[in-house]
Amino acid sequence: MNVTESATVAINSRALEKRARGERVYNLSAGEPALPPHRAIVAAAKKALDEGKTGYPPVAGVPELRRMAAQWMNSVHDTQFSWTNTLVTPGGKFGIFAACQALVEPGDEAVIVAPYWVSYPTIVKLFGGVPVIVQSTESGGWIPDSADIEAAFTAKTKVVILNSACNPTGALYSRTLLGKILAAAQKRGIIVISDEVYSGLVYEGAFVSCGVFSEYRDSVIVINSCSKNFAMTGWRVGFFCAPEELVKVVTMLLSQSVSGASTVSQYAALGALEHAQEITEEVRDAMRTRRDLFVVAGLPAAPAGLYSFAPLASLGATENDSAAFCERLITEKNIAAVPGSAFGAERYVRFSFGAAEEELKDALEVLLK
Ligand code: GLU
Repeated sequence: MNVTESATVAINSRALEKRARGERVYNLSAGEPALPPHRAIVAAAKKALDEGKTGYPPVAGVPELRRMAAQWMNSVHDTQFSWTNTLVTPGGKFGIFAACQALVEPGDEAVIVAPYWVSYPTIVKLFGGVPVIVQSTESGGWIPDSADIEAAFTAKTKVVILNSACNPTGALYSRTLLGKILAAAQKRGIIVISDEVYSGLVYEGAFVSCGVFSEYRDSVIVINSCSKNFAMTGWRVGFFCAPEELVKVVTMLLSQSVSGASTVSQYAALGALEHAQEITEEVRDAMRTRRDLFVVAGLPAAPAGLYSFAPLASLGATENDSAAFCERLITEKNIAAVPGSAFGAERYVRFSFGAAEEELKDALEVLLK
């Protein structure tokens, strides 16, 4: 099969295994806001358990959650989704997977901006698609040129995957840039899959959702999630917002695969959405403080998201190869980080600043010693 392991998940698993063996590990690999679950989330989950809400969920999600999720995005991000456009997936990643499964046929091309989140090209390839990579550069603020994206479109292009705020770079795309890309895509019948899971973790600048453009609504899928915005990674609750025909197709895919997201997790997510603003602010404030530790250490700190995407050269690396450098980091310093090569950027390393503050401080000291 055309599948490879996720680099982020692999290095995170390795760090967790080392820790389980009793080693002191600095885990800056997976993007996970390390925070205790908000009391509203725990209370909602407990209530669901007490009330015996543990049976199969409605495949497309608990209706109240679909409604609340649409309302949340509409009020916070100025989108215009109704609950019939919104379905609940087991995590945002599965939403991207299902979107590609629904749309990408063998030989179809998917345009992806590099540096990209590790799973996009592999997911596309799993369905026989061909990833077509458009480069963005550090000197350009990691913002792609809309003309380059348009130039990458061919008769075979089925989807373009966008990710603002970007994992790993934190780049935020402006409304003008998004409008240009969406217009170019719609003209050619290309669907935009917009991964917006870091929408609430913005420290400088503004986040714009692809869901704000009513004129392009028929060609946009917005993926959001509780994982980062509400620090709910392990609950696995994501939102898939799209035209109703696509929602119907993906509901069928869910019904033939995972039968929906965990019922208890969906009620927990409802608890989060009832306190969405407060929880996201808490997560953002905590992550800003952790991000600033990287600024103080002289390492790049993204305007949004959870990552410092550092050039190998800024780390005093002797290697030109990011995988070799990260291997040395984990072997010699017990620091887990993800090589830039996994994101399509060989001379960089991604550090997550989601880890606990003390762990981050110690890690930076060990890293820069
Ligand atoms: N999305 C996070 C990351 O990039 C979590 C791990 C994953 O699913 O890739 O680290």
